[in-house]
Amino acid sequence: MSRLPVADRGTVRRALRDMISRHRRAVGVVLALHSAAALAGLAPPWLLGAIVDRVTAGAPVATVDRLALAIAGCVLVSALLSRFAQYVGHRFGERAVAELREQFVTRTLGLPVSVVERAGSGDLATRSSVDVATVGTTVRDVVPTIVIASVQLTLLFGAVFLLHPLLGLAALAGLPSIVAVTRWYLRRASSAYLTEGAASAELTEALTTTAEGARTVEALRLTDDRIRHGTTRVVRVWQARRATLALRTVFFSVVEASYPLPVAMVLLVGGYLLTRDMVSLGAVIAAALYLQQAIDPLDRLLQWTEQAQRGFASFARVLGVGLVPPEPPGTTATSRGERLVVRGARFSYSGGHDVLHGIDLEVQPGERLAVVGPSGAGKSTLARLLAGIDAPRLGVVSIGGCPITDLEPAERRRRIALVTQEHHVFIGSVRDNLSFAAPDASDEQMRAALVTVGADWYAELPDGLDTVLGDDARQLGAAEAQQLALARLVLADPHTLILDEATAALDPSTARRTERALAAVLVGRTVIAIAHRLNTAHDADRVAVLADGRITEIGSHDDLVAATGRTRRSGTPGTRRPTSA
Ligand code: ADP
Repeated sequence: MSRLPVADRGTVRRALRDMISRHRRAVGVVLALHSAAALAGLAPPWLLGAIVDRVTAGAPVATVDRLALAIAGCVLVSALLSRFAQYVGHRFGERAVAELREQFVTRTLGLPVSVVERAGSGDLATRSSVDVATVGTTVRDVVPTIVIASVQLTLLFGAVFLLHPLLGLAALAGLPSIVAVTRWYLRRASSAYLTEGAASAELTEALTTTAEGARTVEALRLTDDRIRHGTTRVVRVWQARRATLALRTVFFSVVEASYPLPVAMVLLVGGYLLTRDMVSLGAVIAAALYLQQAIDPLDRLLQWTEQAQRGFASFARVLGVGLVPPEPPGTTATSRGERLVVRGARFSYSGGHDVLHGIDLEVQPGERLAVVGPSGAGKSTLARLLAGIDAPRLGVVSIGGCPITDLEPAERRRRIALVTQEHHVFIGSVRDNLSFAAPDASDEQMRAALVTVGADWYAELPDGLDTVLGDDARQLGAAEAQQLALARLVLADPHTLILDEATAALDPSTARRTERALAAVLVGRTVIAIAHRLNTAHDADRVAVLADGRITEIGSHDDLVAATGRTRRSGTPGTRRPTSA
């Protein structure tokens, strides 16, 4: 399993800058509104200080009333401004998240099939659910909160300095422990959260593969093995979470203990200055109130910095999907004809040992070739090379003289289709299910395709092509789903079809129906059919026997049946049943 890449810090910063610069205006408005709200919020403590000073100087009650009214006004203005700022901020957040999701979907759909298969569905599933959601909250709530808190803190500390520079210095003296512990935390948090994310992805992967393969697990008595496998993943997640929890525990306790320090310092220094008549009592009270007010934004800033770290790690994982080199765009190389040629093809999965050892094969247009051989011989791997999903490590697979992997991916899929046992029905209408194979197909063509594959059930659907299929709607049986997949093929109309055990997982009567449908699809195409047994290959023009990654025999069915006398005695390939499909 090779994980999908994770973006480095530089890439994440660039992506953030891009996001902000795309929404420059909204971000500007949000900042301006929050600054205005914070400014309005500065007045009440100052006015309170003024009340104290006036009362000390013997001012009349009316003065106090006026000042109190001004305080109420400022609070109201500040609340209105920040409410509006939040509204604009959330709109910006929602837009940015929507863009991010769209980008993510586009990038994911652009991933080469082989990369997705090797990364495993768990990694991609975690990134598309947990990570995208975390980035969403970060952009929508966390970043604005951090920005607002920073603005408020700057203004509050600035105000204390304005009251008296010595009071300002005293306030700052309470900050070093907070700054130190924050730096300590930030240095460790990012990698700790990345580890936590990777551990969660592995756990999801372990659980989904076990659930998907539940029958195999039972059949092969792998239950204990899978439980152990799952348990080690759970333990890793537990350890990763413990590590991040340990960081938070130190961070928050130091921070909590540090909050009262600036207020205490200001009161101490303020008391001393007051005795020397260097500041008024009102100024000291205002400064203490400002610092009391600063606790809330400081708290938010630090708490959300933590969340921002998670967001940053998730963003790195989301962006990582875009770092996978896209499917090679193909060259302008043109291929003439549809003759498939394999020369000296060797292949290994992710740097392991070779599973194909120099395959040479030529398939003429219109020919039907069956590939038989025992399980694990490399038939499916050969099918993937022929379909251009994987490229050979050495050697070449070409169509009409052009290496398959040099063709545009779309062009390749139009010409060669790989049909496996998977026949996914997408939630959506019959038309949706058919049209992605051929977006321009008319209703007539779709109906004709369904008729070709013998999907008579389609005539009884309540809304015809608009009938919704899928989970809560009409469910298709295995044979019907397979027919739908075949109708898709008829519409896509590829020249070459590679069938990889397309009907092996169906029960015999369903398989017969599907094979009849399949026969209709095969007419006029080059067909390479993979089968476990020689007797399913009787209507092929030629049969290739694959054993241990090599073609050991190739010839007409009759030639091989004659030879099977020999092979049967030695126990290959016609007699051996697959152990797993
Ligand atoms: P067949 O289709 O003849 O049963 P495969 O092509 O599926 O054979 O497998 C050939 C060999 O490659 C086997 O040893 C199998 O274990 C290995 N193999 C198949 N798929 C993968 C994969 N995704 N990663 C690593 N090894 C694989």
